[in-house]
Amino acid sequence: MGTVFRIVLYAPDPTTAAKASRAAFDRIQKLDSIMSDYKPESELRQLCGQAGGSPVKVSDDLFRVLAAAQAVSERSDGAFDITVGPVVRLWRRARRRHELPDPEQLAAARELVGYERVRLDPQGHTVQLLKPGMQLDLGGIAKGDAADQALLVLKGFGVTRALVAAAGDIAVGDPPPHRKGWRIEIAPLDASSIQTPNSKIQTRFVLLHNVGVSTSGDAEQHVEINGVRYSHIVDPRTGMALTGRSSVTVVASNDITADSYATAIDVLGPERGLKLVDSTPGTGALVKIDSAATLQSFESHFPPQEPQ
Ligand code: ADP
Ligand code: MG
Repeated sequence: MGTVFRIVLYAPDPTTAAKASRAAFDRIQKLDSIMSDYKPESELRQLCGQAGGSPVKVSDDLFRVLAAAQAVSERSDGAFDITVGPVVRLWRRARRRHELPDPEQLAAARELVGYERVRLDPQGHTVQLLKPGMQLDLGGIAKGDAADQALLVLKGFGVTRALVAAAGDIAVGDPPPHRKGWRIEIAPLDASSIQTPNSKIQTRFVLLHNVGVSTSGDAEQHVEINGVRYSHIVDPRTGMALTGRSSVTVVASNDITADSYATAIDVLGPERGLKLVDSTPGTGALVKIDSAATLQSFESHFPPQEPQ
């Protein structure tokens, strides 16, 4: 999944700790081999190879993530959309070459985007991609799911006090012993600005247990072309990469929700994004935007839980 997973856990003895963490990392590896967009042999890529054809039976793991993605697409009015694959590819190339995607290619890629063109059958666990050439991209949801699943594996070993982190996508279980929660720091919009003495950016901490917390933004992956900063998150409706600097942190009952919501809210913007949060029980969000060198911060129900 293009990132490093880290597990922190409390176990009764070293053997349990080693066994449980090994099994959790194995589970993550398995999920990576299914959801990877880079590995041609991944189940996801195989499925995309059959786009335009009949329904394809998929694994429970892939079905779970596709179903969750579709639900978030519907709730976010298409701001989150895993069919952005063809568009994301063009922007990845743009990042490497430092030049904007060709408008004609972008228009052709956009023709393949639209979550309504993914048909899921929950009974038979089949997936049908309605247009040839469609490519699914799980980059905005798979890490959150893997963090949730790793936490579940740890639970199976009786290890409930644990944290699984895939960079900005974190799932936490019960708190460390004698603590009210896991202390999570929310990175400032621009790490270099911490040093500015009168900077309005403040590092924030939240104390969380049994939730997912994810931060989406362009701090790590972006490209600047002709003085404009383009994010790795794209607006599925226009095919354009988000511009400017922003970061969205979401806390939700699990990390598959937090991960996908963070991406969706970045696309929707604070006003519509926080409405989505308000209509989803148990979620909260913090949105930071740097527009014209002015830092703005918006939040709702953040964090959504009081420490025990
Ligand atoms: P990160 O990968 O930094 O955690 P996100 O969770 O926001 O960030 O995921 C961004 C990735 O999701 C992109 O690299 C791309 O693969 C994919 N993506 C981009 N735009 C969208 C979108 N509107 N909906 C769904 N997935 C997207
Ligand atoms: Mg995300």
